[in-house]
Amino acid sequence: MWKALHEGLPVKVKLHSRIPSISPICPRCNEQEETVVHCLWMCPDSKEAWRLAGLPSLTREVETWKWWLEFQNSIAGGSNTVEKQELAVNLTWQNWKARNELIFEQRRKTPWICLEEARRTASERPRKC
Ligand SMILES: [Zn+2]
Repeated sequence: MWKALHEGLPVKVKLHSRIPSISPICPRCNEQEETVVHCLWMCPDSKEAWRLAGLPSLTREVETWKWWLEFQNSIAGGSNTVEKQELAVNLTWQNWKARNELIFEQRRKTPWICLEEARRTASERPRKC
């Protein structure tokens, strides 16, 4: 799943490699190239959402499935492991949605709203026993 996510998201850098007229620069911060990692973890808004969530984020370019493994290790043995995993998955998704809303609907979602929505979707999921 994470490998698919990493290779499948149509981030600007990927579009740019196919269509050179498309800028590879991130539409949210206008500062760095938009890679998957930049978009979901390192762009200032995404980074802030992770910080607010109190979850370990990514600080370097690495494949997303590797991040997931590291993430699992970092929360292993702690409390609420399942909740943290669900929140992390949802927050990743919300960060991607926030990016798309800005591009296609010119609406900026704050990191706080992303986190709130991630929390809500996480708690709506039926509990596995
Ligand atoms: Zn950015």
